[in-house]
Amino acid sequence: MIHVHNFIDGKYQPALSGATIPNVNPSTGQVYGTIADSDENDVNLAVHIAQKAFPAWSQTSLDQRFAILNRIADIIDNKMDELALAESTDNGKPLWLSKKVDIPRAASNFRFFATAIKHFSSESYYDHPATLSYTLRQPIGIVGCISPWNLPLYLFTWKIVPAIAAGNCIIAKPSEITPVTASILGEICNEAGLPAGVLNILHGTGPNTGNAIVSHPDIKAISFTGGTATGKHIISIAGPMLKKLSLELGGKNAAIILDDCNYEKMLKDTVRSAFSNQGQICLCTSRLLIQDTIYDRFKSDFTHLVSQLKVGQPLETNYKIDQGAIVSKQHFDKILSAIELAKEEGGIVLAGGNKITLPPPFQDGYYIEPTVIEGLNQECRTNKEEIFGPVVTLQKFSSLDEAIQLANATGYGLDTVIWSSNTDTIHYLANNAQSGIVWVNCWLVRDLRTPFGGVKQSGLGREGGWDALRFFTESKSVTQQFL
Ligand code: NAD
Repeated sequence: MIHVHNFIDGKYQPALSGATIPNVNPSTGQVYGTIADSDENDVNLAVHIAQKAFPAWSQTSLDQRFAILNRIADIIDNKMDELALAESTDNGKPLWLSKKVDIPRAASNFRFFATAIKHFSSESYYDHPATLSYTLRQPIGIVGCISPWNLPLYLFTWKIVPAIAAGNCIIAKPSEITPVTASILGEICNEAGLPAGVLNILHGTGPNTGNAIVSHPDIKAISFTGGTATGKHIISIAGPMLKKLSLELGGKNAAIILDDCNYEKMLKDTVRSAFSNQGQICLCTSRLLIQDTIYDRFKSDFTHLVSQLKVGQPLETNYKIDQGAIVSKQHFDKILSAIELAKEEGGIVLAGGNKITLPPPFQDGYYIEPTVIEGLNQECRTNKEEIFGPVVTLQKFSSLDEAIQLANATGYGLDTVIWSSNTDTIHYLANNAQSGIVWVNCWLVRDLRTPFGGVKQSGLGREGGWDALRFFTESKSVTQQFL
């Protein structure tokens, strides 16, 4: 049994009330640990500690921050096996994926912002005859970071690192569904010499712990990644308190596939963009829009490849699995009911569509076949609502206008993927896509300097690069007139 405690003032401790919630291993469906369930008393304590740490931390030199953040990255690299095993056990994702993507990206987040803070600059203006104006970018103070379960350490660090680099002290909450790697990060930060109280990690449910963080009057900014409904709830509390907010929310992303694309690359990458991490990435393409001239060819080739994907227990080493377990029973049931809804709406299942029962001891784990559905128009719920699982739909288009109209016909606007070799087509579609991110002839290629975020119901604000450092600082204009 693994007992996940809060990390406050550089020390591990249970929730003050002693309350815990169970932690379930999604590959077996069995409880394998407990998680502290923190309430407002734990948040009050953590804020008090963070306030004590803030004056010293906000005054550290950039060299000191650079050194500590890089040391944390090095320790993450050294603990790769331990962290990857913890991530895949907690989340259900294939072990190779944790090793290839999640844990290396967590280390990259530290290295990226260690360097970025040394290059972060602000504007200055001169006006005749003798006026100089410049901008100071100062840390906000105590900030809250709340992250989801799909890329646990990857997204947790994507939020906390720019906040630390900018000189803030943090109250952070990972998802209660996948808390283990964030918990291990506490001891890594101690080993790297991050002063106690700079990063405080509280565990617990959203309504209990998350709500207490969002409502705390001394937490001045909230960076949140998760579902759109939760994001709206957070706005309803933090908005009237005039907190700074960055919200990275859900998606229902389209891939637009034209007949002049590099077909083989598109096919391979589209399988990946649809089913990576069991389809549980906010950026996954869940709606594939295909030009009518290649629809039948694509349908046949894609369905064939998808039906060959291997689903297995996340730590499988006898053969390479493509998909592991769905993260929780609740999410597993939600995905299966979305597949049933698609059938009721008239969808035809071309591949998958069922749950999978693996041999013991994994018979109670949460496994679903990669699923491909056609025959649904853009007006149905299946094509409008986020499923966040291994389920994609195919739709046909015959003109660029129809393609972009279909791509934009949801309430979400996170990313759009374009497959074409015609630059006019690419620019037309990229220009008209209602999304914060466009990938052309690729998917999930991330340059951490670029702004990251969505439009419409997919979010508010941008993360990444300077945007993250601007979010975690307050700008102050100073104007001096020379005598
Ligand atoms: P969620 O909204 O249920 O939970 C996210 C986090 O918010 C968790 O830590 C949770 O405990 C906390 N939370 C829940 N209720 C809260 C409340 N009332 N107050 C404060 N905190 C609360 O989302 P999830 O199920 O963990 O994640 C899946 C969702 O996240 C999907 O919609 C997905 O698209 C989205 N997501 C978006 C991005 C992005 O960058 N846009 C990235 C990953 C995931």
